[in-house]
Amino acid sequence: MEIFALEVLRTFATKSVHGEAWPKDVYAVSQYVTDGNIFYFTARNLSSTIHAEDGVLNHLEHLLTSGKLQSQKIKLFLTYSPCHRCSQRILNFIDMARWHHNTILEVEVVFSAFYRVRRPSCERNPACRAASHFPSFDYHRVNVEGLRTLHRAQGIVLRTFNPRDWVDLQVALGVHMFDFGGRQEEDDLLRNDFQQIMGLTSTIPTPILSLVLSEMQTVVRTLLERWRPLQDGGQHFSNGNTS
Ligand SMILES: [Zn+2]
Ligand SMILES: [Zn+2]
Repeated sequence: MEIFALEVLRTFATKSVHGEAWPKDVYAVSQYVTDGNIFYFTARNLSSTIHAEDGVLNHLEHLLTSGKLQSQKIKLFLTYSPCHRCSQRILNFIDMARWHHNTILEVEVVFSAFYRVRRPSCERNPACRAASHFPSFDYHRVNVEGLRTLHRAQGIVLRTFNPRDWVDLQVALGVHMFDFGGRQEEDDLLRNDFQQIMGLTSTIPTPILSLVLSEMQTVVRTLLERWRPLQDGGQHFSNGNTS
């Protein structure tokens, strides 16, 4: 199957969340070193059971077993966060390199959209709730579990796209001057959602959090006011100690 670089780049840059259909075209781009040069290999999904990650991992495993994979650092650009099975497959690849080929790999996985995950920003958005484009809780749970396992694993960096990744992806695909306009906002949202899903930040919505904080301030102020007379009275205990 022929893969067109510009089409790949467009798919990566498309904001494929908030009510749009689930992915039809999914791409994975791998970056590694072989024969002293940086190489890129791109794959797309072939069916609902053969994912884009399968394509790049088959390729990398072949290089590894034939002794042609020289880099210990590998970067995977994914249009969607890996599903539970693909998360496991990435981990198996690292294990295989370690136990069968004596190679400690570092794999950086960056993605530009979520695959079948209920995004916190969507859950908070009434328009999203009305559109009911959420994946089922079962899909959500199993995919998040896969992402968390991957995120915690040694030798893996799992994260969302940043501005540098967009530049690197253009280089990988040999496309110049691609307009990524409007991605910044989506990337910020994606990063926040990812951090919340991974349990790295609070999942309490900001308005509730500030309400709780202002309530706490009132309680603390009241306590301080009540405590002040005690404090004044307390002084003479210390005075009393010296006499
Ligand atoms: Zn949404
Ligand atoms: Zn998958």
